[in-house]
Amino acid sequence: MLQTLQDYTNLIAGERAGAASGDWIESYNPYLGQPWARIPRCSDADVDRAVAAAQSALKSPDWKGMTPTERGKRMVRLADLISAKSAELGALETRDNGKLIAEMAAQTAYLAEWYRYYGGLCDKIEGRVLPMDKPSKFAFTRREPLGVVACITAWNSPLLLLGWKLAPALAAGNTVVIKPSEHASVSTLDFVSLFEDAGFPPGVVNTVTGYGHEAGAALAAHPGVAKVAFTGGDHTGQKIYEAAAPTLKHVGLELGGKSPNIIFADANLEAAVMGAVSGIFAATGQTCIAGSRLLVQRPVHDEVVGRLIDVAKAARMGDPSLTDTQVGPVTTRPQHQHILNMIEAGKAGGAECLLGGGVPDRTELGDGWFVEPTIFANVSNDMTIARQEVFGPVLSIIPFDDDDEALAIANDTIYGLAAGVWTKDMARAIHMSDELEAGTVWVNTYRAVSFMAPFGGYKRSGIGRESGQEAIDGFLQTKTVWIETEETTANPFIIR
Ligand code: NDP
Repeated sequence: MLQTLQDYTNLIAGERAGAASGDWIESYNPYLGQPWARIPRCSDADVDRAVAAAQSALKSPDWKGMTPTERGKRMVRLADLISAKSAELGALETRDNGKLIAEMAAQTAYLAEWYRYYGGLCDKIEGRVLPMDKPSKFAFTRREPLGVVACITAWNSPLLLLGWKLAPALAAGNTVVIKPSEHASVSTLDFVSLFEDAGFPPGVVNTVTGYGHEAGAALAAHPGVAKVAFTGGDHTGQKIYEAAAPTLKHVGLELGGKSPNIIFADANLEAAVMGAVSGIFAATGQTCIAGSRLLVQRPVHDEVVGRLIDVAKAARMGDPSLTDTQVGPVTTRPQHQHILNMIEAGKAGGAECLLGGGVPDRTELGDGWFVEPTIFANVSNDMTIARQEVFGPVLSIIPFDDDDEALAIANDTIYGLAAGVWTKDMARAIHMSDELEAGTVWVNTYRAVSFMAPFGGYKRSGIGRESGQEAIDGFLQTKTVWIETEETTANPFIIR
């Protein structure tokens, strides 16, 4: 069935705009495997315009002169507008990236809290008067915005990932240019309309859609950008780091993971199995925090595997816009192929495929990009399937004997985004949380996030933290002001 494609445009300097070239990119509905909308294919010229708009807004009295308290009020107003529109935004994301409506609706409803929280922090950004060691000098610090921040986001949770950057960036007084993924830009383009209604001056928030290697690369390298706040894969993260180097931009990198989820024999197994399922099959495994390596202590190994297979087998696969669907399609065609390639690598590497392992043979799923929930057992941590990120519904189960072995396996990875521990022994839980090399450790829970909880990666999972009070530090720079309080003329050849 052919659909009429809906056009979504960028917001630059408060005006809606297509690409300067007039080119468009089709955005696909992954459940139908068909295009449903078009977004502008931006290039250097559009990026130049957007950055210029953000630079101009940065200096405008309307933004620079706005008191932090007033800025905070507008962010809270924005949060209220998000709350009122959250169901619509969630439905847009589901249509554009194929993630479950149940998940996206909950995410977009919760999203408002990031803007409320950072709205409240706007007028708590304080400098200090320094207890000076030099008698006639008075010195104090001011904390100032960095400038124009480029927010580059992945397709899996566009508005949530954006909020983690945008809310602290704005609270700190920066202006922004957003580049969402070409695979799921629509919700971002719709969302930014709310800024005018919330009272943000034009040019404070701008967007440029397009391909990563065109619009994304131009934005990451732009000399007018002070910081790149990025979410995506680690290989792209490396490119961002390189692009930022010539002009020494600040970078925040939220990258991928190969997170261990560790079940000890003394755990509440029912809760642990549900935690394992949420770690790998929720969101069709397309989350950076996927608990893709399930480490199970040998005495309960077979029982855990049996229970997991029962739950995964029964998971309802289908239309993500239905509230009772549990496993939706994969968001992009290339990602679909990547997951299937990784499954083949798992089989070729000697892992035992106990469930799934391919594309479901069900006509009712039509042309959607589905992959069966897949479980590999007897995985050894040196296999490709245990080392590389799949970003799909593919679980690798690795048995272990004791705490030391679990830790050694868990930390034997280039990544360090998250980890899970399931045990009733709190001393063990504390020891494991001390030793696990990960930015987040969950004990007897998994996949919990909050606006007040810092989030980010150890090792190659990233640089910097999002959410929580410390995230705002990543969008500020400190200026130290010195004032001479006596009329003296000092020897100019000696440090003062
Ligand atoms: P990518 O790295 O492919 O893309 C991320 C963003 O970067 C997209 O907007 C992309 O645009 C853009 N991009 C691509 N190439 C360049 C470039 N050369 N210069 C500038 N920008 C570029 O990641 P995915 O979108 O495939 O997302 C999946 C990855 O994101 C996974 O590795 C996942 O673990 C990670 N992730 C991390 C999270 C975290 O918080 N740590 C959260 C969610 C996901 P386009 O798509 O248009 O090419």
